[in-house]
Amino acid sequence: MKAHDGMYIGGEWRAAAGQDTIAVVNPADEQVIGRVPAGTPQDVDTAVRAARAALPGWAATPPAERAARIAALRDALVARKDEIAETVTAELGSPLPFSQTVHAGLPALVAGSYAELAATYPFEEKVGNSTVLSEPAGVVGAITPWNYPLHQIVAKVAPALAAGCTVVLKPAEDTPLTAQLFAEATGEAGLPAGVFNLVTGTGPVAGQALAGHDGVDLVSFTGSTAVGRQIGAVAGAAVKRVALELGGKSANVILPSADLAKAVHVGIANVMGNSGQTCSAWTRMLVHRDQYEEAVALAAAAIGKYVPGERVGPLVNAKQQARVRGYIAKGVEEGARLVAGGPEAPLDRGYYVSPTLFADVTPEMTIAQEEIFGPVVSILRYEDEEDALRIANATVYGLAGAVWAADEAEAVAFARRMDTGQVDINGGRFNPRAPFGGYKQSGVGRELGSHGLAEYLQTKSLQF
Ligand code: NAP
Ligand code: MG
Repeated sequence: MKAHDGMYIGGEWRAAAGQDTIAVVNPADEQVIGRVPAGTPQDVDTAVRAARAALPGWAATPPAERAARIAALRDALVARKDEIAETVTAELGSPLPFSQTVHAGLPALVAGSYAELAATYPFEEKVGNSTVLSEPAGVVGAITPWNYPLHQIVAKVAPALAAGCTVVLKPAEDTPLTAQLFAEATGEAGLPAGVFNLVTGTGPVAGQALAGHDGVDLVSFTGSTAVGRQIGAVAGAAVKRVALELGGKSANVILPSADLAKAVHVGIANVMGNSGQTCSAWTRMLVHRDQYEEAVALAAAAIGKYVPGERVGPLVNAKQQARVRGYIAKGVEEGARLVAGGPEAPLDRGYYVSPTLFADVTPEMTIAQEEIFGPVVSILRYEDEEDALRIANATVYGLAGAVWAADEAEAVAFARRMDTGQVDINGGRFNPRAPFGGYKQSGVGRELGSHGLAEYLQTKSLQF
C-alpha cells in the first residue's frame, strides 16, 4: 500500500519532526502493509499554526465558494472510490463489497450533502430588531476512530469546512492510510493551503497534544467513552467547545405485532456489518416472551450465514479481538445461553471472532450493558411493552435503536419514549442528513445534516 512518510500541513507533505513510525497492519493476514510517521506535539503545533493562519481567509470565503470546494472534494473522493475501498479493506479488514458501498460510498454522500448545505444554510437570520450571524467556531481539532475510517473523517471535516472552520485531523493509528488518501483529495479539490491538515500519530501523544492545544477552538472526538471523558475534561478546563460521539448499546425492539422474521433478519445483519464494529449497532434484540424461542431459532439461522473470512471480516487489531473474545467468555460465565459462535477464534490467522449469538440474556449482565464492538448479538426477553421500554432504556448509552410493529404509529409511539438519538422504524433507511448523536453517555452534540453543521458555528447578534 502507498504510504506518505510525512504530514500533510499547509497544503504539502512535510517531513515529520521525529523519527518514529507506526506500522499499519492488515488484520486479515497480520502482515505489515505500510508505515506512517508518529506525530509529536511539535507536528501538532506546526499543523495548528497552519490552520490558524488559513482561518481568516477561509472564514471570509463566500459560502457558495466553500460549497464549490466541498463539491470538488466529493468529486475527488468519487474518482478515487476503488483506491479508497481497497485501502480500507487492507487496513481495517472489511470485505471489499462492504468497503465499496459503505466505506467509500457513504463519505461521498455526506460530502455531497455538505456541498449543498454550505450553499443553502442560513448563515444570517433576522430576529426582531437583531441580525444573528452564524460565524465559524475557529480552528477544529478532529480526532477520529478506525471503525469507519473515511466516514468519521468526512462527518467532521465536511461540516467544519462548510461552516468556514479550518481543521487539524488526528486519525486512528490503525487506519492512517485512508486518512492520507483523504488529505490528497483535499489538495485535488483546491482547498487553500492550511485549511485542512493531517497529523498521523498515537492518541496519547498526537491526540492529546491536539485536544489540549491553545490554538484549537473546538475539539470534535469520536471513539471510546473513556477517552471522550478525558477530552471533555481537558476542553472544559480550557473553556473550549467540544463534540463527543461515543459508544452505544442500542436496542432492537421487536413488538409482538411485527413481522418477526424480517425484524430478526435485519437485526442480525445490522450487527454483522463491519464485524460489529459500529457504535450504533443494535446489539440488544428485545423479543416478547411468547415469540422468544421462535426468534432465537430465526436468529441462529441468520447468523449461521456469516462465515468469517467471507461475509464477515476480522476485527481491526489483536487487542480488539482479545477484548471481544473476553466479553463472549464473560457472557458464558454469567449464565447466558450460547446459541452460536463462542470465544474461540474461528481462523488461525487474522484477528477474526466467531459471529456469536446469546439467548437468555438478562438486562444486568455485562454483555447487555457494555459496548462489545464485535459480531455479538444478545437476545433479551420482555413481558410486555412497559417492560420492553424499561429494558431498552436501562443502559448508560443512548445512541441508536430500532422499533418494529405492524402499525407504524405503534412503533413511533414507542420510539418517542426511548432515550436515544436515532430510531429506525420498521427498518427505515439510513439518511445521511439526519442528525446522528447520543443521549446520555453516548455523547455531546450531533453530526450530519444541518445539525452537524451548526456544531461548527458560533453566533453573534447585531441590534438595530
Ligand atoms: P479510542 O482509544 O477512544 O480511539 C479513538 C481515537 O482517539 C483514536 O484516534 C485514538 O488514537 C484517539 N485517542 C486515544 N487516546 C487518546 C487520548 N488520550 N487523547 C486524545 N486522543 C486519544 O478507541 P479504541 O481504543 O480504538 O477502541 C476502544 C473501544 O472504543 C472500542 O472497543 C469501542 O467500544 C469504542 N469505540 C467507539 C467508536 C465509535 O464510533 N463511537 C469507535 C471506535 C471505538 P489511537 O488510534 O492512537 O488509539
Ligand atoms: Mg486506543
